[in-house]
Amino acid sequence: MGRKGMVLKPEWQEVADDFFFSMRDRGCSCFISPPCSYCTHDGNPANLDETDDAWESELVGAIRDAQVPNG
Ligand SMILES: [Zn+2]
Repeated sequence: MGRKGMVLKPEWQEVADDFFFSMRDRGCSCFISPPCSYCTHDGNPANLDETDDAWESELVGAIRDAQVPNG
């Protein structure tokens, strides 16, 4: 998963975190009713990989983080 030299935008990182915490123990249930919420969740790594808008260059992220005042 992930893209070389790219990082998730902050708002997409939240989506990825949401998926991780709410879905990791759930797993795929497409055998019950496809497509399941696990597979269609925007934060699913497989979906993130296909979402161009979710990614930005590591440099862009580093520059923005450097501009955030500490406290
Ligand atoms: Zn599924």
